[in-house]
Amino acid sequence: MGAELTTTPRAVVLVSGGMDSVATLAIARARGFDCYALSVDYGQRHHAELDAAKRNTAKLGAIAHKIVHIDLRMLGGSALTDDIAVPEAPTSGIPVTYVPARNTIMLAVALGWAEVLGAHDLFCGVNAVDYSGYPDCRPEFIRAFEQLANLATKAGVEGQRFSVHAPLMAMSKADIVRAGLAHGVDFSTTVSCYQADGDGRACGRCDACRLRRQGFDDAGVPDPTHYR
Ligand code: ZN
Repeated sequence: MGAELTTTPRAVVLVSGGMDSVATLAIARARGFDCYALSVDYGQRHHAELDAAKRNTAKLGAIAHKIVHIDLRMLGGSALTDDIAVPEAPTSGIPVTYVPARNTIMLAVALGWAEVLGAHDLFCGVNAVDYSGYPDCRPEFIRAFEQLANLATKAGVEGQRFSVHAPLMAMSKADIVRAGLAHGVDFSTTVSCYQADGDGRACGRCDACRLRRQGFDDAGVPDPTHYR
């Protein structure tokens, strides 16, 4: 009889510091994973979000938290990385807050870390219900990336099966609020606003703020967001 060690499975979780990614981390923990949180400092307009990531990964019991620097301002092309104003009214089509290839880049970094850690599971907080219409938040994208992960890596070629989990994909913002609260998330410490100030206070007008506030309203939960 082999004395097999039961080891807790590891997951790499992308955590930006916004409500969705922090809820995703809480869900990954609840599913029994040892979580390795990854944030990407891509030159976003403010650091309040990364500060929120730091606080919440510690609070929610991540084993480790890495902040990787990849300066997407070198490419620009988004209201979050370039000299383009953040829209404060709904726009049609994919909004200018879309950051070119951001989720592809971030998942690629997460995949690299997962391979090093011997983790088979990646988690990200993308959502295709109450969202801004970004192409890299759709289920087709997640499935395609999972396929890529299994083709692109040594672990994949050697028979390792990677899974990319997007537990929020089909949830409304209200569902995300309820799930986060059920798993111990303190949403007052998360920062979703596209143009938060240095203290993490939200504008209350951008797309991210509107979706977030609607989520608390629909869930019948007081909005704990710090507005400026
Ligand atoms: Zn805002």
